[in-house]
Amino acid sequence: MPPLLICGVLERLNAGEVVIGDGGFVFALEKRGYVKAGPWTPEVTVTHPEAGAQIVGVNCHFDPMTCVKAVKLMKEGVEKSGLKAHYMVQPLAYHVPDSTYLGYTELPEFPFGTLEPRTVTRWDVHKYTREAYKAGIRFIGGCCGFEPYHIRAVAEELAAERGIMPAGSEKHGMWGAGLEMHTKPWVRARCRREYWENLLPASGRPKCASLSTPESWGVTKGHADLLQHKEATTTQEMKHALEMQKKAKSSG
Ligand SMILES: [Zn+2]
Repeated sequence: MPPLLICGVLERLNAGEVVIGDGGFVFALEKRGYVKAGPWTPEVTVTHPEAGAQIVGVNCHFDPMTCVKAVKLMKEGVEKSGLKAHYMVQPLAYHVPDSTYLGYTELPEFPFGTLEPRTVTRWDVHKYTREAYKAGIRFIGGCCGFEPYHIRAVAEELAAERGIMPAGSEKHGMWGAGLEMHTKPWVRARCRREYWENLLPASGRPKCASLSTPESWGVTKGHADLLQHKEATTTQEMKHALEMQKKAKSSG
């Protein structure tokens, strides 16, 4: 593997390395003009592939498997045009199958800690990582909701391909290996990959539905309602927002 500190992302990808990324890094690159976000992305990959992005992918807003699916579509578009690119995926660490085109921002739980019951497990991350790798994506990471143990799971799933076990791996046994020494035999029986891979975890919240009803405001990037505010929302604007919310709820 090339020395990390002196190589750029492109050099590393060109050398065949799998890069593990995070959302904050991509936002920093965007601020410096290296990343173009928003409605350009599908146009660059499919409608205007000649625009020449060297790395294409998706960041944030949707869950891991949805993001992998989106990058697969982008890759198809690029390849159909006879062009080459590297691919990146950095999803949410939340399950959001009930969100529509605006992603998790439409869910009534957004943002704050109320999305936490939707957090993916480290086992979900192993599955997602493998799926992304199989799809030919070599810049694999996470955005909102990803915790250090999730990123460690990405690196652990790709330990053989990358030739290194990540820092922090020594703190646990892979796939519950440490449970072999547990006092309770039913817990000892869980020290295998198959058990954790096939587990459907419960939320423990008796009256919670598994899905929410998204607030469908029917607006997207470019709409006047989506402007970045430099000052606090005025009473008039709040009145408009509340009216919109009422309308969205009644149509949902
Ligand atoms: Zn994010």
